[in-house]
Amino acid sequence: MYRRENGVYGDPENRVSKNNPGKGSAPKAAISPTRSEDYAKWYQEVVRAADLAETSPVRGCMVIKPWGYAIWENIQRVLDRKFKDTGHKNAYFPLFIPKSFLEKEAEHVEGFAKECAVVTHHRLIAGKDGGLIPDPDAELEEPLIVRPTSETIIGAAFAQWVQSYRDLPLLINQWANVVRWELRTRLFLRTTEFLWQEGHTAHATDTEAKEETRQMLDVYADFAENYLAIPVVRGPKTDSERFPGAVDTFAIEAMMQDRKALQAGTSHFLGQNFAKASGIQFLDAEGQQRHAWTTSWGVSTRLVGGLIMSHSDDDGLVLPPRLAPAHAVIWPVFRGDDTRPAILEAIAQLAKSLRAERFDEHRNVEVETDLRDIGGGDKQWEWIKKGIPLRIEIGPRDVASGTAMVSRRDRGPKERESVPFADLPRRVTELLTEIQAGLLERAKRLRDENTRAIDDRASFDAFFTPKNEEKPEIHGGFALSHWCGSPKCEASIKEALKVTIRCIPVFGIDGVSAAARIEEEGSCIVCGGKSSRRVLFAKSY
Ligand SMILES: [Zn+2]
Repeated sequence: MYRRENGVYGDPENRVSKNNPGKGSAPKAAISPTRSEDYAKWYQEVVRAADLAETSPVRGCMVIKPWGYAIWENIQRVLDRKFKDTGHKNAYFPLFIPKSFLEKEAEHVEGFAKECAVVTHHRLIAGKDGGLIPDPDAELEEPLIVRPTSETIIGAAFAQWVQSYRDLPLLINQWANVVRWELRTRLFLRTTEFLWQEGHTAHATDTEAKEETRQMLDVYADFAENYLAIPVVRGPKTDSERFPGAVDTFAIEAMMQDRKALQAGTSHFLGQNFAKASGIQFLDAEGQQRHAWTTSWGVSTRLVGGLIMSHSDDDGLVLPPRLAPAHAVIWPVFRGDDTRPAILEAIAQLAKSLRAERFDEHRNVEVETDLRDIGGGDKQWEWIKKGIPLRIEIGPRDVASGTAMVSRRDRGPKERESVPFADLPRRVTELLTEIQAGLLERAKRLRDENTRAIDDRASFDAFFTPKNEEKPEIHGGFALSHWCGSPKCEASIKEALKVTIRCIPVFGIDGVSAAARIEEEGSCIVCGGKSSRRVLFAKSY
């Protein structure tokens, strides 16, 4: 096995076109602007260049294209397995929620009221100007809300399903879409309609419900680290950041490359609030009527945004192999017509042998073959921008020597490795495993290098104030600082710096050196009051 620094096939450095960066005056990166130039625009451009999604004619709603939707399908496949392995069953509940259902839980309705889409009519009629208008005679007696989340409607069903302690625990998950009327939207990160799963469970005791809440938080954390390759911090939210109606909200928080936090998943302990509002009652073993204890937990298409922002670089999308729509692409490099059939035959054989190879517990190696008649450089850059983990080129010399040229997305575009055909399946799974682990390592390093224990206000302010005017998007990172527990102090930090308490990291932060000092007495970063532990402050999405 040898490495060839300058591949002879479609060497991107030797080709310049409007679709790929080359020598001379052209920019060095395939994505413009780069991360350090304008992180927000860079993100949009990565999404566009990878053909993941686009904005739609409906304000705030996105069209998820096949390459983006396949990532979501892979997320679904893995999580669905984990939910079933922990005893949950899938079900489906209505898209519409009667207004009166939302009104049952006061905190809940207050939390969602401002972002609800409301259905008021059930028929259209021709208007005077030839258009369509809602028929005034078809106004609904009770408006319907397009679900922002399903606690209330699922609560009504649970109230019917649960009679005795023998019916508990009730462990249900729903894969669905929800609508929250957002004013400022960004593809995958914040859209009016988004896809998600919501788990809803009912239990006989508070202990059981709390264990469930924690279990699902751990399922999310495990998924984030081992599939998304994103390290997360787990912990409860402060009261002001809690889910409306919940007793406790736990979250997993991840650091993106611009050092901002992304809440990647939440798990709520709802106490008996929703059971009381919906009438979820059961007869216990002693014949006593009791209210159940419930939980809910969810992750959404926002995870795709998190994946993009965690790993991608100035050449475009970088995908963790375990969630990539495909693991490798093979394309031919033709030199004259006489070797064509042999190259195509070799590609068909290699694709077949690769597809027969197991990659992880969820799927075999998935291979795309790209036989389109376009230049090698353009083809190469297209796949780089799509983030496919491995690119494999086969030319006449490769067929003659029985080897393939393999490039990995996590290395420079020029770096190639020659692999004998017979070794390819083994080598490909080896490389994919290496890339997956490497992405997590890199993300951990970024997070750990940008997490600090900060004890004085001046350093805290400096940490969250951009130092370099040319890079205003780069923020400090995660600050572990003391907080007295007062909502006033929390609000003043938010007001002054747009920094919030992301979570109270009661379960520690793996690998962060400052973590050892989380449980330590100190003084509140705002008022100087007594504090028994540090909390995690950051700017966030
Ligand atoms: Zn304070």
